[in-house]
Amino acid sequence: MYQITRELHFCYGHRLLDYQGKCSHLHGHNGVVVLTLEASGLDAQGMVADFQVLRTRLGQWLDAALDHRMILRRDDPAVPVLQALGEPVQVVDFNPTAENLAKLVFDKAHALGLPVCEVRLIETPSCWATYRP
Ligand SMILES: [Zn+2]
Repeated sequence: MYQITRELHFCYGHRLLDYQGKCSHLHGHNGVVVLTLEASGLDAQGMVADFQVLRTRLGQWLDAALDHRMILRRDDPAVPVLQALGEPVQVVDFNPTAENLAKLVFDKAHALGLPVCEVRLIETPSCWATYRP
């Protein structure tokens, strides 16, 4: 089995609802997506996938959907306020924890046809979450 891994960096804001602590307030992270693909064989170029293709395909979605956006749960009262101010908001149906964001990225990579086996979402240098089916 072959695996390749690529990091994609992005900045985002969020806050957690139904939570007591600092992360219940609006704040931001310099996040890193660590995307791992897996294949039992290699393509004609001797690759699992082209690292550049990962950048263009998943990276473009990451830039458009999450980078420099406030990621908030749909029922967060900050959503209409920030939208009225013209701030970039990404509304999601779950609490925007590192775990849920890792699964969101995994699902998108899978939908793009990438043979993804694991996504790690690094929220801070000492905290990350990993999703694999
Ligand atoms: Zn946070």
